[in-house]
Amino acid sequence: MDVDAGHGAALGRALPKPASELTIGRRLRSFLSFQGNDDDPVTVLTRTHRAIHPSADAGVLRRSYAIAENMHRGQMRKSGDPYITHPLAVAQICADLGMDTTTLVAALLHDTVEDTSYTLEALHGDFGPEVAHLVDGVTKFDKAFYGKAAEAETIRKMIVAAGKDVRVLVIKLADRLHNMRTLDARSPASRARIATATLDVLVPLCDRLGIQALKRDLDDVVLYHLEPDSYARIDEHVRNRPGWDDYLSEVKAKAQTALRRSRVSAEVTPRPRHYYSIWKDTVAGGHKVPFDLPRIAVIVDGPETDCYAALGAIHGQWRPVAGRFKDFIASPKNNLYRSLHTTVTGPDGRLVEVLIRTETMHDYSEYGVATTYRYPKYAQDAEASGADQLTWLKRVLDWQQDTTDAAQFLASLRCDLAEAQITVFAHGHAFELPSGSTPVDLAYELGPQKGDQCLAATINGRLAPLSSQLRDGDVVEIFSETDGHVELEPNAPRGPRKEWLGFVKSSQAQLQINRYFDEKNEPGISIADKVRLGRATIGLTLRKHDRGLASEVPLRRLAEELGYPDLETMLVAVCERNLEPDAVVEQLIALVDHPD
Ligand code: MN
Repeated sequence: MDVDAGHGAALGRALPKPASELTIGRRLRSFLSFQGNDDDPVTVLTRTHRAIHPSADAGVLRRSYAIAENMHRGQMRKSGDPYITHPLAVAQICADLGMDTTTLVAALLHDTVEDTSYTLEALHGDFGPEVAHLVDGVTKFDKAFYGKAAEAETIRKMIVAAGKDVRVLVIKLADRLHNMRTLDARSPASRARIATATLDVLVPLCDRLGIQALKRDLDDVVLYHLEPDSYARIDEHVRNRPGWDDYLSEVKAKAQTALRRSRVSAEVTPRPRHYYSIWKDTVAGGHKVPFDLPRIAVIVDGPETDCYAALGAIHGQWRPVAGRFKDFIASPKNNLYRSLHTTVTGPDGRLVEVLIRTETMHDYSEYGVATTYRYPKYAQDAEASGADQLTWLKRVLDWQQDTTDAAQFLASLRCDLAEAQITVFAHGHAFELPSGSTPVDLAYELGPQKGDQCLAATINGRLAPLSSQLRDGDVVEIFSETDGHVELEPNAPRGPRKEWLGFVKSSQAQLQINRYFDEKNEPGISIADKVRLGRATIGLTLRKHDRGLASEVPLRRLAEELGYPDLETMLVAVCERNLEPDAVVEQLIALVDHPD
């Protein structure tokens, strides 16, 4: 366990090492060297990987590095470094997280299919279906085919691939982290654009997957690019905190004594905040100087109930600050994070933040979905498995069946990621909804039909307007047209109402209501929309066959062969279902695979 790692260290930020360490490293390496090659760039990667997974196969890492190096040879990064330094760094980030060999192989090869002549088929042949799936999941769609939609389509494709294998997202996040760390060669405008895009989708995704070790580093590098002055000020503050270490040692010693008195076996460690989190609290509180409370983590060596015993010991030692206690064990966050939080008035009347958790909780709070890869011991552990994050991912994927438009999918994803969640109870089950949700959101969560036919609701036993905002813990009952005991006035309107769109919060409800009205008012769609929808439909159908198109040429040829005046007319036919997308795609694949 590495509680002390704090900011950045968990992922081996590339800080220059002291000379002595380098010397020992080299001596050790030549002592252990089985390849007899001291400059082997895969050595560090292999060593990191083997330290966590001792029986891992280093040969396949070497083989995938060799292919990646060969394929990228001659390519340079904007910084002037050889391209291969990038996939190697991405694999290193994955190794530091404790990911498995397959992830590292895919990370080394992640840009080959997109940027070199290496094909997905060749990759599949050389490294098997798992690596091929992972690399394909992070490969961008061609701008030539998807035009402006390429970016949104790429994100959707990645999410779909992650639904089958969440390691896709881990590689993508590591990729972005390294790209963000090497943005200095870019113009300020493109740095800001990339940082904003990262903040927009990838950081919230990382948060939802619970990989705090990675999210801290992403947060900080985003802050560095978007708020360079604030970053510098916080950096200055963190480097010069007089008496800080002595103070924390005193807190630690007193906390340990208090815990021992209460017979709680626990480890106490200083737990510094990362830069972004200091910045956020500083801005939120309107402080003139960086606002940064000393913080400790208490990791109890025992069952969950020991956390509360530890809390009692800490509160017995120092007076808790009212309103600052949070129990994320009884009510976990939506990303598997579990912990007790409290703030106490510590020695000298200074405020100190305290986190209390078990070792298992700590592992999950650091590594989220990556935990079972890092610590295979948890793979068996159903209670602690990463299932929750994957349930969320599966739900996100449910929308994509209802959205033909990638931009709309992305908007929904963004909205879902940004929202705080509430839990409400209905029909004996708990449901997670974005905060600010209404009974209509809940009705659509119960199913599209239940939503469309929703008439009335009670909240905690009382009849309430459908637009009422639900609160955490509310017990809700939904009444719909098909419930026998609801008496309908003969002229009462049926189906969803347009005004619902004014208050629903969840993506699910928005999509379903839009779908209902789209089906009713088809003539409203413009030709341009139909072309776009036709194109997206073909894209989706191609993906069902695990295929994509690198250019529009085959599409244009097919349109010609089928007797359409141009490609656009064929796409409209697909949108209107005068032409079956499955048939089009079959013919397309035949055309590409057998060009004559
Ligand atoms: Mn890359």
